[in-house]
Amino acid sequence: MNSILYIVIPCYNEQEVLPETSARLQDKLARMMQSGLISSLSRVMFVDDGSRDKTWEIISQLHSQNKLFSGLKLAHNKGQQSALLAGLMSAKSYADCVISLDADLQDDIETLDEFVQKFDEGCDIVYGVRSARNTDTFFKKFTAESFYKFMKLLNVDIINNHSDYRLMSKRALDALSEYGEVNLFLRGIVPTIGYKTDIVYYERHERFAGESKYPLKKMIAFAIDGITSFSVKPLNMISGVGIFLSFVSVIGLIYSLISYFAGWTVPGWTTTVCSIWLLGGIQLFCIGVLGCYVGKIYFEVKKRPRYLVDMIVNDNDTEIDADALSDKVKKM
Ligand code: UDP
Ligand code: MG
Repeated sequence: MNSILYIVIPCYNEQEVLPETSARLQDKLARMMQSGLISSLSRVMFVDDGSRDKTWEIISQLHSQNKLFSGLKLAHNKGQQSALLAGLMSAKSYADCVISLDADLQDDIETLDEFVQKFDEGCDIVYGVRSARNTDTFFKKFTAESFYKFMKLLNVDIINNHSDYRLMSKRALDALSEYGEVNLFLRGIVPTIGYKTDIVYYERHERFAGESKYPLKKMIAFAIDGITSFSVKPLNMISGVGIFLSFVSVIGLIYSLISYFAGWTVPGWTTTVCSIWLLGGIQLFCIGVLGCYVGKIYFEVKKRPRYLVDMIVNDNDTEIDADALSDKVKKM
């Protein structure tokens, strides 16, 4: 249907992958333009999330050589979710639909056509879902599956095995712009929008160069953020634990009174020490969970900007000559 497609790619220190990623996308988009699936005003928008390496230099160079590429430079490193949001909000002014993608092309770009076809059929949101987790380590597979199960347990509407590879229409992006939260967890926010949605299955590849920008520490923080942004059930669970323990302590009290009157009070040291430690630990944990929510409220009430744009390079009204593009690719 010849819609204008923008591909938004958050990039943090991605100098190793950008030359290859841009070449592959150029080839793919040229083919999509030639087949008439997308308009020649479509673009690839790289969002530089405050990188410290040559990422922005590469993006500007790509833009000056080829108008297919545009770039958005954030003033600071704000994390993948904020960078993605910045790109989506900027791209929605020019595009009919936007697909978000990782810079390392772990998400299979050969499925891009399917996303656009579903958009043409009237879908506002199309989720990319991994058909298998073969490229993951056992640890990553196990933790990811536990995370999805836990989210389901908390009644959070989340799509299994979907990361941030998704298409959103301009209408869906307008709806997303109404969400003002600072604690961003797009995978949880997008399903709450509604509209007509569908799924596209794909196989996730290995990162072809550079290192993951999501070490274990960041991954755990992201998972906790996801849980606490969408559910207050952990708070209710604390009350549940409190009620349960009060009940247990009443039994403990009866037991100690009986012990006292029966005259076997001396060997009480173990139980005393154990309960102090156990209750101390549980109390600290519960205060921690409360603190987690209070911390989030603290950030939300401040309403600080979620990202600041330093610079944007986008030539949005130059038509791309797809034949010349694919010739260029052949020569490379
Ligand atoms: N990313 C970002 N800001 C960050 C961390 C990551 O924009 O602070 C981008 C990164 O450049 C990549 C995407 O987020 O395009 C996903 O990161 P990565 O591939 O390192 O994560 P993994 O696939 O290992 O989970
Ligand atoms: Mg990756």
